[in-house]
Amino acid sequence: MRLVVFTDLDGTLLDHASYSHAAAAPALAALARLGVPLVLASSKTAAEIAPLQAELNLRGTPVIAENGAARCPPGETGGSTATYGRLRAALAALPQPLRAPFTGFGDMSDREVAEATGLPPAGAALARQRQFTEPGLWGGTAAGEAAFVAALASQGIAARRGGRFLTLSFGGTKAGQMAGIARDLGAEVTLALGDAPNDREMIEAADHGVVIRNDHGTGLPPLPGEATGRIRRTTAPGPEGWNRAVLDILDELGFMTGAE
Ligand SMILES: [Mg+2]
Repeated sequence: MRLVVFTDLDGTLLDHASYSHAAAAPALAALARLGVPLVLASSKTAAEIAPLQAELNLRGTPVIAENGAARCPPGETGGSTATYGRLRAALAALPQPLRAPFTGFGDMSDREVAEATGLPPAGAALARQRQFTEPGLWGGTAAGEAAFVAALASQGIAARRGGRFLTLSFGGTKAGQMAGIARDLGAEVTLALGDAPNDREMIEAADHGVVIRNDHGTGLPPLPGEATGRIRRTTAPGPEGWNRAVLDILDELGFMTGAE
């Protein structure tokens, strides 16, 4: 049986506070031993995901970057920025009163992005290496924001609010990218893990979904799949919960027979 695993990073495979995946080591080792592809799916840029992908020896697997706006082929670093360029051009073409209150990552320095996100300066530089989406801060009125969003929508640009940032994109979700990758990798069974609303579609679209406990975020409301057992919740947060859930599901699917 060909299994493919899709996982969110922050608060899911990575600890909310320390960004460590150490507690998931046994399950990561089991996936590697079984040759089960592990696809990293994050709101981060490909440049931000690349060091983790290398550390986990996952360079042969595609990555879902920038919240599903894009799928990056295995091992790709420094891919095309043409889509991001189109977003920035659309912003520049807006009437100044509409455009002015929006401060995108492309309008900020590395230091300003570090301040806005809480990332260290080196991390902020990687977060600014955008290919597909533009997060930014809105400094105007609610009515102004509605007009700004409507003007962009007429050009096929979606604006999604998540926490502090208003993120602009030409669409695409983690679940949409998951479907394409699962097909290309010949998946017969999919498993998706996540902790936040932007993971919901992915968790619901997979054959097996896992909601990772996160006491620091918005969390996910009870999902219909939980009643049937197709979706489960972890009692432990982050990588500890991730580890338990992946090992349990591998066992239930019959992968662990004969494992020591
Ligand atoms: Mg998360």
